[in-house]
Amino acid sequence: MRVTPLDHPMARHLLGQMRDAATGHQALRGLATRLATLLAIEATRDLPTQADSTTGWAGTVAVERVAEASVMLVPVLRAGLGLLDGALAVLPGARVGVIGARRNEATLQAEVYCERIGEGLEGSTALLLDPMLATGGTAIAAVARLRAAGCTRIKGLFLVAAPEGLDALGEAHPGIDVHVAAVDERLNEVGYILPGLGDAGDRLFGVTG
Ligand code: URA
Repeated sequence: MRVTPLDHPMARHLLGQMRDAATGHQALRGLATRLATLLAIEATRDLPTQADSTTGWAGTVAVERVAEASVMLVPVLRAGLGLLDGALAVLPGARVGVIGARRNEATLQAEVYCERIGEGLEGSTALLLDPMLATGGTAIAAVARLRAAGCTRIKGLFLVAAPEGLDALGEAHPGIDVHVAAVDERLNEVGYILPGLGDAGDRLFGVTG
């Protein structure tokens, strides 16, 4: 699995503000959107383009086009919705599917409770969106669903990843690419990332639980 950290001063600047416990949900959503845009720019760097031509002001000019609809953005409900607008800013023509997964707090295992990713995904690229890669359980389950649906290129976009989650995801799905704004220190005893952001879903949406 190839892991690409977002090595950019703006990413560190934005993430630093997200780490501030005093940052409220409105500000957090704006920061997450901006970070998601930076991540999506990096994650789409290798998208194929097709040569074409158009009529420019001085006659025919060569252009390149991306088949935006061949990309599906897949936010993992609920926290992944916080990255959707930022990714759509880069690929407004992308399709959007959702996977709902929650962590069983007793077992820390991921449980998929909803999947709307459609059919006919053979050959398409999926960008999985989730702010946190903690134990990796949710991402492992989500990537398995995307693979089963036929996605050939799968990239995980995360704001913060734990080393434990990266190891687990890489072991389960060695062929995927991962883009992260930061790799943090470790998981705590209940599977939260340290120093992390806390509960990303609760904080982004202002709803606890
Ligand atoms: N999910 C979160 O929202 N935060 C963590 O630190 C781990 C999982």
